[in-house]
Amino acid sequence: MSILHTVREKLKDVTPLHGDCGKICGARCCHSMEGEETGMLLFPGEEAAYAGQPGWKIQDTPVGKLLICPGKCRREDRPLACRLFPLMPVLRDGSIRVTVDQRAAVCPLARRGKSAMAPEFVEAVREAGELLAADAEQRAFLEKLDTEQCELKELKRKLGGGFHV
Ligand code: SF4
Ligand code: SF4
Repeated sequence: MSILHTVREKLKDVTPLHGDCGKICGARCCHSMEGEETGMLLFPGEEAAYAGQPGWKIQDTPVGKLLICPGKCRREDRPLACRLFPLMPVLRDGSIRVTVDQRAAVCPLARRGKSAMAPEFVEAVREAGELLAADAEQRAFLEKLDTEQCELKELKRKLGGGFHV
């Protein structure tokens, strides 16, 4: 079984709140902004699960492969980015830290920070990060994500925004 499969399974049933958080916000993270198609970055190798699947599109970007989804999906089809959202594991100074995704501006939970989320979810994200970091290719991707998060955080600091972590 691949690391990616193990990590996706680990996060299949655990969610940010014990109930369905989509009910409190109208599942904002699944809706694209008017007039634009937004997507989620895929972890290396994850694209194999979506290639040729009706309703799903993959685009190459400078940061990696971007998945454009149908806007509604079954839990078992969710990419890792959605299973982790609004948190993400980042590799900082050689160890895994769980942080609020700086791109999660639409999420009301993200604004309240990790303490507003189910501890099992936060722990599952940390464990997912540890597993991913044990694989060279996934580890390199986590490092790339951390660079991107740091840049976004710095930009928000300059503009006077940002999240609690
Ligand atoms: S935006 Fe946040 S609160 Fe709403 S469904 Fe997504 S993760 Fe849950
Ligand atoms: S893949 Fe599913 S969970 Fe992720 S944004 Fe699309 S509809 Fe929402």
